[in-house]
Amino acid sequence: MSLRLVLLGPPGAGKGTLAGVLSKDLGLGSVSTGELFRNEIRRRTALGKLVTRYVSSGRLVPDELVVKVMARRLSRRRLGRGVVLDGFPRTAGQARGLDAFLKARGTPLHGALYLDCPTPLLISRLSGRRVCQRCGRNYHSRTMRPKRAGVCDACGGVLSIRKDDQVKTVTKRLEIDRAKAKPLLEFYQQRRLLYRLNGSGGIAQVFQRFRRLLDREGWLNARA
Ligand code: AMP
Repeated sequence: MSLRLVLLGPPGAGKGTLAGVLSKDLGLGSVSTGELFRNEIRRRTALGKLVTRYVSSGRLVPDELVVKVMARRLSRRRLGRGVVLDGFPRTAGQARGLDAFLKARGTPLHGALYLDCPTPLLISRLSGRRVCQRCGRNYHSRTMRPKRAGVCDACGGVLSIRKDDQVKTVTKRLEIDRAKAKPLLEFYQQRRLLYRLNGSGGIAQVFQRFRRLLDREGWLNARA
């Protein structure tokens, strides 16, 4: 299988959760820009130092830097085997950068999937989100609890609230996303690559909707 998708949608729409399931159930590799940046910050690298003020305040890292980092990261992978990008692109400028990069490699996208969710649900998901400090796995205080309170099922790491999931920062992140979403969605709409998926409900429901789209578009047979 060789499927290349980008997952779009506001913070809390479930991009990371869906990317995790696609990786587990369909064997698609996934790259999350947010995860990548948080890792660099944790490891106190030069890139981490550059992006920390954006990430902790919920602002977007400048397009030029994000595209450069992603191009470098994607160059190391064999995209032909299938990949899902989670949280990238976030702006039309980034979408143009990604488009140019993929075209030059002869591996264009199959689709851009926009996860649609009502704002109250986004806020409820973000405010209850708990993240493993060690491996980055996501949980939710009400809907996706770990087996032992405060401890990651996968690696035993400590769960905590992301700094940018505090109420004030969440409101700002949603505002920024709204402003950037229109031109970003237009970019993919014009190229007939945009697919909207209802992101409400549990992950099993969202995945079922995704499977229907997959069958309809014949993406599992994608070879190019
Ligand atoms: P996320 O985990 O996707 O919610 O991203 C967390 C934070 O990382 C965002 O609030 C931004 O500060 C930064 N970030 C992640 N992806 C991007 C992107 N594509 N463009 C700019 N900033 C990003």
